[in-house]
Amino acid sequence: RVKGEQKNEYRLYSAEADEKTEHLFSLQNDLNQALEEDQFHMVYQPRVNPGNGTIQSMEALLRWDHPEHGSISPGEFLPLAEKTTWINDIGDWVMRAVSCQIRQWQQKGLEPVPVSINLSANQLLQTNVASHFLSIFQEYNVEPGWLELEITESMLIENESTAQDILESLQEHGVRIALDDFGTGYSALSYLQKFPVDTIKLDRSLVQGVSEEDGYQPMADTVVYLGHSLGMSMVAEGVEYEKECRALRSLGVDEIQGCYFSRPLSTEEVNPLLESGVITAPPQT
Ligand code: C2E
Ligand code: MG
Ligand code: MG
Ligand code: MG
Repeated sequence: RVKGEQKNEYRLYSAEADEKTEHLFSLQNDLNQALEEDQFHMVYQPRVNPGNGTIQSMEALLRWDHPEHGSISPGEFLPLAEKTTWINDIGDWVMRAVSCQIRQWQQKGLEPVPVSINLSANQLLQTNVASHFLSIFQEYNVEPGWLELEITESMLIENESTAQDILESLQEHGVRIALDDFGTGYSALSYLQKFPVDTIKLDRSLVQGVSEEDGYQPMADTVVYLGHSLGMSMVAEGVEYEKECRALRSLGVDEIQGCYFSRPLSTEEVNPLLESGVITAPPQT
């Protein structure tokens, strides 16, 4: 390349980077209004028994309907919110929205299932967080047993002793605790014994491409065995293909979550599923 071109290229990239920074900056500003202007909503992804398609539970996932940019995924805006204290307000909004939804399902006489909610690290650092969450559930007249809180390993590492107290007190009141994205961090086995974990969610990176034809799956197999030995429920995330589902079923995984059974759904889409209680996976070739 000639010098001039390279210089040009550099300027192009830098303009792109500037644009990106500007975009993120303006999103961060817009997050200010998102709560007030009611721009958030929840979607729910079924967690399904791989043997018979029964819906065992659902994961609640946050969506932001941006007035100009349309639907923005949490991977994009939550890191921005996590830099501020808004994350606690958003987190509370999520707790209320899900509690309210569970209550509505119960009032409609639908067969409700437990719902899991993702937590951010900052939320666990709030004072009296356990009683705060429990009071929200109570406000909506929802038994804590209908809720499971999804945390990640890094949240435990950052504040070991307080996290342990908080989770234990939530669990004593019947809230279930799930360890999310297992297989992406240290996957330290000591944490599984130390913290009160009911459920392990195997990250997509662990389940991607597993198939029975390949025989023994050392990683997935060992983790499922270990989790079950400790009395935990094992969930596989991001399952997209029938062969993954079949392999995971024969490994004894308790619940499958992923587009193979269902993408995350709006509440209107969830209602008829709760009525029937099962999902039939699409036939695959
Ligand atoms: P996560 O908790 O691990 O959630 C699973 C993610 O996998 C979701 O992304 C889901 O839409 C996606 N997914 C579902 N099925 C498939 C599949 O078959 N294949 C693949 N490749 N992906 C699939 P989503 O909804 O974009 O959320 C991203 C992350 O944002 C979540 O990861 C979670 O860490 C966080 N998050 C979502 N909602 C909330 C919330 O209300 N509060 C907090 N604090 N974090 C949230
Ligand atoms: Mg999750
Ligand atoms: Mg996950
Ligand atoms: Mg996550």
